[in-house]
Amino acid sequence: MAARPPIVTIMGHVDHGKTTLLDALRKTNVVAQEFGGITQHIGAFSGCKKITSNNVITFLDTPGHAAFSSMRARGAMVTDIVVLVVAADDGVMKQTLESLRFARDANVPIIVAINKIDKPNIDLASTKRSLLNSGIQLEEFGGDVQLVLISALKGLNLDKLQECILAQAEMMDLKADPTCHVQAVCIESRTDPGRGKLSTLLIQQGSLKRGDILVGGSAWAKVRGMFNDQGKPVEKAEPGQPVEVIGWRTLAPAGQNIIQVDCEQDAKKLIEKYSEEENEKKINMDNEVIQKKMELHREFYNELRKKKLELGRRMGSIYRAGRSKESQTDNGVPKLDIIIKGDVDGSVEAILDVVETYSCSDQCKLNVINYGVGAVTENDVQMAQMFDGIIYTFNIETPDSILSLAKEQGVKILNYNIIYRLFADLIKQLNNKLPEIEDEEV
Ligand code: GDP
Repeated sequence: MAARPPIVTIMGHVDHGKTTLLDALRKTNVVAQEFGGITQHIGAFSGCKKITSNNVITFLDTPGHAAFSSMRARGAMVTDIVVLVVAADDGVMKQTLESLRFARDANVPIIVAINKIDKPNIDLASTKRSLLNSGIQLEEFGGDVQLVLISALKGLNLDKLQECILAQAEMMDLKADPTCHVQAVCIESRTDPGRGKLSTLLIQQGSLKRGDILVGGSAWAKVRGMFNDQGKPVEKAEPGQPVEVIGWRTLAPAGQNIIQVDCEQDAKKLIEKYSEEENEKKINMDNEVIQKKMELHREFYNELRKKKLELGRRMGSIYRAGRSKESQTDNGVPKLDIIIKGDVDGSVEAILDVVETYSCSDQCKLNVINYGVGAVTENDVQMAQMFDGIIYTFNIETPDSILSLAKEQGVKILNYNIIYRLFADLIKQLNNKLPEIEDEEV
């Protein structure tokens, strides 16, 4: 086991200076390492306190919640220390508290950086009070949380901040094994027009070299090359180091855990296993959705059954109301011939299901002469005309030519989008078939 650099995430309320601080730290880093080149944004960078020292800090440079939560969502907690930036002129705000909650939930220690101390008329005492009121136990008040007063804009006390981070890291005694198989976390992935698929990995265990084979979820790579945050090629990446890797066949998402395997066959086997597991997960999820849908259907049919009973009762009343008169059907039962056309099987079935109860009733008859899915046809109109019936459509449009034909033939086409309205109309139509009510026995 060997000591490794601490991984730091900078968090805090919007506009409190996270980006400015990251930029300032990144610039310090470039100057310190004397590359002087353009820094690359690769999702993380290594900061050196002094050129000669081994005291390196790795900053995740996607500020705020996004990095933290996408990592956490995949169960990869890479952050060792959170630097909580609080603007001196604003104090503790909503996202300061959220950041604090994130850090506490993940059991990650925080260091508070009160920023913008270059501003005139700031009230440091009040900012500190707001920190205390939020449950942050600052060292100067007997707690264990370090506080640094900085100006990210002017580059004030950034050295001090790095010292605090290193002191915290020392207490945490962060160690990793640089000799074992590589374990890493993907910080960022992108496709570069010139270099193809790239991922920034943060190495957690082992040392990554060219030619190594990596797998993460459904992604895999044979490492063709590695670059540090200055875009400089590196031969080896050790624990705590962020490195941009090329050689990916498919890209891994941010937060994906990555492991090294011995050969391509092993990589493919692992990916197969992963895809089987994912399939199984998907099947389980689909099953859940199906169960929920079935539950909804059950509720729908129960509701429908209730309506059927109610309708049956009302139709019985209609029949009783008209029974003293001569009936319009052969056996003395009112009868209505209908054609049903619907948008999908389900809706046609639901209507038929209800209609069936009247067809079997000896008090009234609904006779379905045709039914089906799709628009009303010429044949439907002719049938309805022959039987003096009505065409009910559910959730479909009838072509103009058919509407004119129906008008010519004196056939009613009634369209509904709400099933209960359609049933209510059926009752009305049946009622119309009955003679005038003289005897009011309802
Ligand atoms: P973020 O939303 O937390 O990333 O905040 P930014 O880094 O974008 O900073 C928000 C504003 O505060 C910008 O206009 C910065 O220039 C300004 N700012 C950041 N740090 C300091 C500072 O130390 N002093 C002063 N005076 N302004 C700062």
